[in-house]
Amino acid sequence: MTHKVLIGIGSNLGSPQENCKKAISLLYELESISILKQSSFYQSEPIGKKNQPWFVNAAIEIQTTLSPESLLQTLLNIEQQMGRTRSEKWGPRVIDLDILDYEGRMINSKSLTLPHPEMLNRRFVLEPLSEISGSTIHPVEKKSIQNLLNELPPTPVVKKLSGS
Ligand code: ATP
Ligand code: CA
Ligand code: CA
Repeated sequence: MTHKVLIGIGSNLGSPQENCKKAISLLYELESISILKQSSFYQSEPIGKKNQPWFVNAAIEIQTTLSPESLLQTLLNIEQQMGRTRSEKWGPRVIDLDILDYEGRMINSKSLTLPHPEMLNRRFVLEPLSEISGSTIHPVEKKSIQNLLNELPPTPVVKKLSGS
């Protein structure tokens, strides 16, 4: 059985765009994952903790044989492999890989919440996601990604990186 999953990628340390590309190439190397779609890269103003570098964000659609929990562990392993350390919540990070949607499944366990609870409020997630999966219906809101994006305020700012 394979499953289609939407993943959000972000980085704001070192060379953020290179870090995002590196994470995608590490996912690409795995036998249990194939990459179906990849968005452009976007620059986004930090939220929460403001005095930190701007982020680069992207979204991908993958096909995988992994369960939601195994996929989460795989993503956390890649974060660790790339040198992510967790100090403060929403602080700067070399790489962040979030599961946004797993075929519309709703999960609320200690380690995993699906769909990702904050995606609704985040232009830096919905902007890249709308590029590759705008008509996907959010399982809780019952609205498309494109409609959810249209409802968001223009700030914090998210800009498409030209040529990406
Ligand atoms: P946010 O969740 O608000 O985007 P964050 O990405 O900075 O914040 P992290 O420190 O990367 O948070 O992750 C903390 C924990 O969140 C992870 O160890 C993981 O168990 C849990 N988690 C829950 N739901 C998800 C999900 N859908 N995707 C990724 N991690 C999740
Ligand atoms: Ca995140
Ligand atoms: Ca995360």
